[in-house]
Amino acid sequence: SDVLDVERIREDFPILQREFDGTQLVYLDNAATSQTPDQVVDAIAHYYRHTNANVHRGLHQLSQEASIAYEEAHDRVADFIGAEGREEVVFTKNTTESMNTVAYAWGLAELGPGDEIVMTEMEHHAALVTWQQIAKKTGAEVKYIPVDEEGYLDMDAARDLITDDTKMVSVVHVSNTLGTINPVSELADIAHDHGAYIFVDGAQSVPHMPVDVQDIDADFFAFSGHKMCGPTGIGVLYGKEHILEEMEPYLYGGMMISKVTFEDSTWHELPWKFEAGTPVIAQGIALAEAIDYLEDIGMENVRRHGEQLAEYAYDRLQEFDGIDVYGPPGDDRSALVSFNLDSVHAHDTSEILNEFAVAIRAGDHCTQPLHDKLGAPASARASFYLYNTREEVDKLVEALEATEDLFA
Ligand code: PMP
Repeated sequence: SDVLDVERIREDFPILQREFDGTQLVYLDNAATSQTPDQVVDAIAHYYRHTNANVHRGLHQLSQEASIAYEEAHDRVADFIGAEGREEVVFTKNTTESMNTVAYAWGLAELGPGDEIVMTEMEHHAALVTWQQIAKKTGAEVKYIPVDEEGYLDMDAARDLITDDTKMVSVVHVSNTLGTINPVSELADIAHDHGAYIFVDGAQSVPHMPVDVQDIDADFFAFSGHKMCGPTGIGVLYGKEHILEEMEPYLYGGMMISKVTFEDSTWHELPWKFEAGTPVIAQGIALAEAIDYLEDIGMENVRRHGEQLAEYAYDRLQEFDGIDVYGPPGDDRSALVSFNLDSVHAHDTSEILNEFAVAIRAGDHCTQPLHDKLGAPASARASFYLYNTREEVDKLVEALEATEDLFA
């Protein structure tokens, strides 16, 4: 790599040394979940060994230490994504829960017949199914910005579809199927011109590029820890403070309240109003460690490395005669590439690649409607991260050549 010392980085990820029948793992399923460096695993172990306690309640020393670490993890995330402060950073379970939090807390209360939700044809089910079902509950209507032949959003159509009837524009920042990087800040401007909010699904952008939610002018923004060197079980919901202030909570219970009587209750300050019950303490602290890890390497470097690998993979896949590669050109995509060999079903491809210890994803990648539009029920997807190498892309291509031969 031109930008990263990958051999050094790989030492932090012992899992990459695993062998299957004597063949070393080639892990190319990072868009599904990334691997976890020792630093983050150690942070989790350290927390449970030395600091474990419930937060916010206890007056004892351990609880105070855990509370401070947990609160500071919010500050770390706020700083990482350019939020104003911890008030705007809610810890959830994952991107999906972040999306549902807004759909239930804001959508159910604010949407009704005549209102419109505008999404894109490349939305992940996390957004698509959620807003679709909230629309059914509220009588609102859902519209989709089309994806063109090259895998880009039709921005002229976007300007027509987003109107004064639009209340929410929900857009994926980077497509987990096409690798397209969407012009979210332009879409934010269009949404705001019509008085609508914009929710940006950053599950595939935050792990791979510098992101500033205020530059984008996102009203809501969501991502997951497990795709960015963090643990599972932690997601983030960013929301502008004044909007979160006005929103009702989504989950009720302990920790999110201020005063409770038999008759009524009032809510704790942000962000705790949206974190009911014992929160994701260890996961949140570990996410902060993952952010430290990524920022030490530099998000701009992580981005360049991933994009270089994706471009290299894209170019090498063009060597196959019978192949469909989906999404934008190789030099204009994020760190993944989805494809289908003409003669082989994606599931067979991934099964045979598994024989070569090459781990890729096959399926609809939670974008069924997009796959319908692509005319393929499934695709194979190779997705890269900071520890992957060009040699691993070569191994992918070799294994694909063997796959093709098998089915010829
Ligand atoms: N949106 C996008 C673009 C994704 O790639 C994913 C993960 N596949 C999600 C949302 C959902 O993330 P999670 O499963 O962590 O909730």
